[in-house]
Amino acid sequence: MALELYDTFQRAIRPFTPLRPDGVGLYCCGPTVYDYAHIGNLRTYIFEDLLRRVLQFNGYSVRHVVNITDVGHLVSDADDGEDKMEKGSRRTGQSAYEIADYYTAAFKTDFRALNLLEPAVWCRATEHIAEQISFIQTLEQKGFTYRTDDGIYFDTAKQERYGYLARLNRAGLQAGKRVDLGQKRQATDFALWKFSLPESQRQMEWGSPWGTGFPGWHIECSAMSARYLSPWFDIHCGGEDHIPVHHSNEIAQTEACHGTRLANFWMHGYFLQLDAAKMSKSGGDFLRLQTLIDSGVDPLAYRYLCLTAHYRRQLNFSWEALSAAGTALDRLREIYWHAPLGGRADEAFMKRFAEEINHDLNLPRALAVVWALVKSDRPEAVKRATLDGFEPVLGLNLAAWKPEVSDIPDAVRSLAEQRQQARMNRQWAVADTLRTRIESMGYALEDAQDGFRLIPQPVVID
Ligand code: AMP
Ligand code: ZN
Repeated sequence: MALELYDTFQRAIRPFTPLRPDGVGLYCCGPTVYDYAHIGNLRTYIFEDLLRRVLQFNGYSVRHVVNITDVGHLVSDADDGEDKMEKGSRRTGQSAYEIADYYTAAFKTDFRALNLLEPAVWCRATEHIAEQISFIQTLEQKGFTYRTDDGIYFDTAKQERYGYLARLNRAGLQAGKRVDLGQKRQATDFALWKFSLPESQRQMEWGSPWGTGFPGWHIECSAMSARYLSPWFDIHCGGEDHIPVHHSNEIAQTEACHGTRLANFWMHGYFLQLDAAKMSKSGGDFLRLQTLIDSGVDPLAYRYLCLTAHYRRQLNFSWEALSAAGTALDRLREIYWHAPLGGRADEAFMKRFAEEINHDLNLPRALAVVWALVKSDRPEAVKRATLDGFEPVLGLNLAAWKPEVSDIPDAVRSLAEQRQQARMNRQWAVADTLRTRIESMGYALEDAQDGFRLIPQPVVID
């Protein structure tokens, strides 16, 4: 079955066909780096990683771009409120740039722990100020902007289809917000460039044709996706919260500047809920991946948990569900580990798996195929080879896992100790002979700082 994906813009599942023969352009809104990512944010990146892996499974090469929002923008949708980066700087005594570097590194650590594939491009907003200024200049030349005392704004009244992605009720929004519009003409208008206040001592500010200041929240994604992909590319992703504001505004800017709606498919990951409430960065307490790791949870168990829910459904987090995911993952690892090498993937199971993932990334049903395989009467070697066939999509890294072994036979342990002694005596030939004997008993031997480790090897059937 050919790949079909849900497009938020058209509110429909439709066949995916790349716009260009040389690969698929995929842009994902990245982290704001004034704090750690929480596991809700990470659910969205796991969804995007699965999307990329499914595209690759279908033979497409993917150019994956993720931005880092390191400008100290005003994260409130209303373009006001405190600047989180500058606030963090005052709190910690570090510079705003140091804070951004620190949280970017922390984010990438989480990214790798979840076995997420590295994007082709990570692009930082602060390194693309010139592109953002020139984008705003074009919008100005085309008559889509106006000036207020605090910045340059996008005039959403100039676009008939503004907010179509979210099916926004503009009249209703306007009526509801009439009181606190300030100098904005419409409730939906948004800042493209904000002026630094004369009395403020901002660390992140730049000169521009309109005065010293900093870019608004949305312009970086329109400007950087155009630079690294093109003004019209295949798929744009983010969390569901981006539909009404951030992505609606990205589309508005790009439509005004380039005449395209930016991406052929708009795809959104639904939220991870904690105690049925939205997990948010500004909400104070939130769970980090490191919090899970400190509680003894394998990060890949969290990845497995995310596979159990479709990306267009909200997922309620619970420690019980996480623990069940960890148990399921461990069972898969054991089965994989004990199965002999040398089998061939089962075509019927591969086909069923491909059908599920190609139907708008139905990973929960793909996992059901995994368990049907495991419980089937296929030979163990075939199961292992088929799991290898699923791995490029699931990314559970089954092959990297080794059981923790405490019950190594005394005879093997004693040989390893003798070898250790021989090495200390520089009797290399003796040590080599002992290693060969240990290996013939089904154990690999790794030298470790504190001595050695014995690792049982899977059985190989020729
Ligand atoms: P941020 O760093 O706040 O810009 O968010 C990074 C990504 O996480 C964005 O794509 C958000 O839409 C997404 N996101 C935020 N909160 C959640 C949540 N609770 N569950 C899933 N995704 C989220
Ligand atoms: Zn964005």
